[in-house]
Amino acid sequence: MKKIFAILLAVSVMLTGCQVTKKTASRAAGIQDKVKVVAHRGYHPSPEYPENSIAALKYAQELGVYGSEFDVWRTADGGLYVNHDRSFKGVNLAKSTSDVVGELTLSNGEKMPTLRAYLEQGKKVPSVKLILELKHYEAADGSVALVKELGIEKQVEWIAFSYEACKRVHELLPDAIVQYLNGDKSPSEVLADGIVAIDYSANKLKSHPEWIKEAHDNGMFVNVWTVNSDFEYWIDQGVDVITTNESEALLNLLKSMK
Ligand code: MG
Repeated sequence: MKKIFAILLAVSVMLTGCQVTKKTASRAAGIQDKVKVVAHRGYHPSPEYPENSIAALKYAQELGVYGSEFDVWRTADGGLYVNHDRSFKGVNLAKSTSDVVGELTLSNGEKMPTLRAYLEQGKKVPSVKLILELKHYEAADGSVALVKELGIEKQVEWIAFSYEACKRVHELLPDAIVQYLNGDKSPSEVLADGIVAIDYSANKLKSHPEWIKEAHDNGMFVNVWTVNSDFEYWIDQGVDVITTNESEALLNLLKSMK
């Protein structure tokens, strides 16, 4: 009798387990299709892959993220370089010239990438979007011209804190996906200027949770940055894109939900 009871219990646990798995799988099927991973400044888990290096871009490409993000500055003589901060090793990128900036070396021995070199590496893997952040308005025209020259208009998405820079890209490339970063305008407001997505910080979106629905109702998508943990919270909020330093962890989580 004990044996029969044990068997019945085991079968019941298995059936319950199946139901849970099915439920999770159906929820995750949508999530898999919906939530996209953007590698913030490439994937840079160790010093051999400094952020915004070609090495970090290649690593993100190997992971198979939806997109890899990077930051662009224009030098005083019109050079375009990939780096996060305005200054690097005491050199103000926007006020210096290409002969100086081009000699700056990253922690893995790479020279600071030119935008051309960075985009050429990006072009090799067309399935990974290139999420190009304009750090200032002055970088817009040259970056657009280079993207056009390389014929990768469809692979590049544009982001900027500068609203004027967003509008400028939309003016030059009306079909481009442009996302505003600063978090001080509603989705409807930016859409009226041709900006088709909001890419707001986790804090800004938490203070305006209604903007997620408003964006979706307008056919826009929502990108949240920079989320390195608490992924489930944002998945449940229904965001479309998560920009993260932890691309591998997020990809693994999404796979486990499949
Ligand atoms: Mg950035």
